[in-house]
Amino acid sequence: MYDIIIIGGGAAGLFCSIAAPKNLQKIILEKNSSLGKKVILSGGERCNVTNIDITPEDDYFWENVKAIHSLLSKFSNYDMIDWVEKHGITTCVEDRGRVILESGKSKDLLDLLIRESTKNRTEIRTRFDITQIEKIDDIFRIHGNDGSIIEGKNLVVATGGKSFSQVGTDWFGYTIAKQFDIEMTDPYRGLCGMVTREDLSELSGSTLDLTLSVYDKNKLLYNEKGAFLFTHTGLSGPIVFNAVIKLGEHLRKLGIKESQQKAYFDEHITIKLTFNEESMTKKVKSFFELDETKNEVLFHLADLKSWAEAKVTGGGVKLSELTNSFESKKIENLYFIGEVLDLTGKTGGFNLQQAWATGYVCGKWFEKIGE
Ligand SMILES: Cc1cc2nc3c(=O)[nH]c(=O)nc-3n(C[C@H](O)[C@H](O)[C@H](O)COP(=O)(O)OP(=O)(O)OC[C@H]3O[C@@H](n4cnc5c(N)ncnc54)[C@H](O)[C@@H]3O)c2cc1C
Repeated sequence: MYDIIIIGGGAAGLFCSIAAPKNLQKIILEKNSSLGKKVILSGGERCNVTNIDITPEDDYFWENVKAIHSLLSKFSNYDMIDWVEKHGITTCVEDRGRVILESGKSKDLLDLLIRESTKNRTEIRTRFDITQIEKIDDIFRIHGNDGSIIEGKNLVVATGGKSFSQVGTDWFGYTIAKQFDIEMTDPYRGLCGMVTREDLSELSGSTLDLTLSVYDKNKLLYNEKGAFLFTHTGLSGPIVFNAVIKLGEHLRKLGIKESQQKAYFDEHITIKLTFNEESMTKKVKSFFELDETKNEVLFHLADLKSWAEAKVTGGGVKLSELTNSFESKKIENLYFIGEVLDLTGKTGGFNLQQAWATGYVCGKWFEKIGE
């Protein structure tokens, strides 16, 4: 019998196992053959551990800003940097405040996480396929497809979101939430590119610094200046990724389902690019016929890039369903942490910070039964 079963060995699950008391019996059940695939992918495989400058109001979904303030007061970006550096890994700060491993190898951090988790007496089981979860007489029973049954007093769901499923994340966390009747907001694509109605393929590969504005009819939804990229199908780069999150937030407030999105985009959403002197390259100038009197162009949003390209999932398990320690208010000893939560940030280290912090707070909570 385990004290804590953690489903999912990503950033949140690993950090939870590290923060939890050593004397508790812990196990991570991971369906992949290895842990932390998204930790490896972050920051272009150089690991974007966190961001040096976090303003919850600007960097996270507005409804949950209060939760982020509280979370960061318990485990901040500086706490994470200290933890990493204390364990001998040096970090540096790059553009947009991104904290990156100086070695440029995400694997260094993943190795450290696995080492610390194991040192903290966590058993790790990979290639574990869960077929069923039950809660009987206060005990969680996890059935594996090999016929094994793992029993535990507490269950932590750290299965990530729905996006980028090619590395193993899928709907499973939401399936568990549904099973236990825990409310969620519909998941939506975050941090992905935009497909435009206009053919911009001729400009594909051009990286520029400019201002992007997204409108619903005449209403400005989002505006940011920063790095931007034209692709074969439309628009990409950090400011586009962030705009996608904000757009998702807007659609969610309006109650527009994913199946209705394209039609809504068609009728409502336009994107304006405002070029400055540096971004008015020769190619761009001649393509859009820009000059001293014209430095803006308008596009129509046809669609967002696919779920497979989205770097995070917006929406998920509602925070109002959980305590400050991420325990379900309905189901005792059931916890949700990391990206499975409805707690999404912009690109730049904010999502990994969410995973570390929710993992930490949940892990520390087990001190109540630990020492
Ligand atoms: C390409 C890419 C680049 C990114 N870059 C950045 C970045 O630079 N900065 C940043 O902050 N964030 C970045 N992110 C987002 C960030 O990686 C995630 O927000 C973060 O990893 C979420 O951590 P998590 O532990 O909640 O979920 P995940 O990392 O998704 O981990 C969930 C784990 O659960 C496992 N799992 C799922 N279902 C089951 C199941 N049924 N049984 C057992 N195990 C299961 C998965 O295999 C996975 O190992 C990036 C994401 C991607 C895809």
